[in-house]
Amino acid sequence: MACAMPYPIAPGRFAMQAALVQEMPAARSLEAPEPDHASPACRDQLGRPLRDLRLSVIDQCNFRCTYCMPKERFGRDYPFLSPEQRLSDAELLRIVRAFVGLGVEKVRLTGGEPLLRKGIESLVERIAAMRTLDGRQVEVAMTTNGSLLARKARSLRDAGLGRVTVSLDSLDDQIFRAMNDVDFPVGRVLEGIDAAIAAGLAPVKVNCVVERGTNDAQVLPLVEHFRGSDVTLRFIEYMDVEGPSGWSQSRVVPSDEIRGMVERAHALLPVTRRDGETASNYLLADGSLKLGFISSVSHPFCGDCTRARVSVDGRLYLCLFATSSVDLRQHLGAARPDEAVADAVRQAWQARGDRYSELRADRLASGKRQYPTVRMSLVGG
Ligand code: SAM
Ligand code: SF4
Ligand code: SF4
Repeated sequence: MACAMPYPIAPGRFAMQAALVQEMPAARSLEAPEPDHASPACRDQLGRPLRDLRLSVIDQCNFRCTYCMPKERFGRDYPFLSPEQRLSDAELLRIVRAFVGLGVEKVRLTGGEPLLRKGIESLVERIAAMRTLDGRQVEVAMTTNGSLLARKARSLRDAGLGRVTVSLDSLDDQIFRAMNDVDFPVGRVLEGIDAAIAAGLAPVKVNCVVERGTNDAQVLPLVEHFRGSDVTLRFIEYMDVEGPSGWSQSRVVPSDEIRGMVERAHALLPVTRRDGETASNYLLADGSLKLGFISSVSHPFCGDCTRARVSVDGRLYLCLFATSSVDLRQHLGAARPDEAVADAVRQAWQARGDRYSELRADRLASGKRQYPTVRMSLVGG
């Protein structure tokens, strides 16, 4: 395992963290390495274990972020999945149970906007009640746009949600409203983040997708805003989820450039990434903020990709950019044994060789102007 020695530190003690990082050789891990409980049988063609499940619980959203669900494509007549096409809670739970039986320990609920799903707390509660192969509580996390979090943070925490990641692309209200494209005010998302911190959904992560010419001037204001809080702030490179037709490399701000913007104002200390973690992590040298950079375009991390994705219609996607999926719904009938889902997942994972981001440059260089990708709001990012 590539992870360094355990270095257990109470979350949120930033000053102490910085002091410890300075005593360590650069880039030691701040957190204990993850034990590898993945079933030995469940490794893919590149040796990657199946560790995490991202479960999309709804494909609809109350935002129309321009980089994810542009209004031109996701208009009033867009054929979202009907209630009959969406899996019930009982069906989703059967799928989650199969993944847990294969060694998965973390389940992230996503969407669309997961907080739009009715009874989401009950789903959280029933997943959190599951046990991992070695008898621990399954970790339940959520990625949300934060619009409904102020009123839901406490009940989600009570239901057993462990952690939350909130997407926030700008502190500037005008830019934020333009990016969500439904005129939603940034203040309500900030209230949601505060409510999540108050409810103990720690560590709260804030994700910002940086798009050149749109919100790149927001990098430093976001850093300043969250300094001294218990939030981990992560900057994400803008990805070609719609294929090259709706995306261009010139609008991607590479992580190195974003980090440079921060470094002109603050010294940074590197922190080693844990196995399977997507972000390169840093700490402001004064210990006031933990930062992550997710470089899926400039420095792809497919070699560490241990995530499976399941959409709300029961399809298993082995990559965020997959063009095909495995239908798990057919294994959910009352007459089917519970092992049928697990067998289908195991088989698919063992055959997996996906590494789209590592091949992106070649594809673009080959002049391929358009290629299909699954929609982000269906598989949940
Ligand atoms: N609606 C929830 C939210 O926005 O947090 C969850 C679903 S959303 C698809 C999950 C994540 O995907 C968000 O953090 C969002 O910023 C990110 N995302 C969507 N489109 C993206 C793109 N083109 N490039 C990079 N990240 C993207
Ligand atoms: Fe909705 Fe999230 Fe996509 Fe924005 S990024 S449109 S909030 S699903
Ligand atoms: Fe994983 Fe596919 Fe993203 Fe590579 S491109 S990190 S395989 S989801």
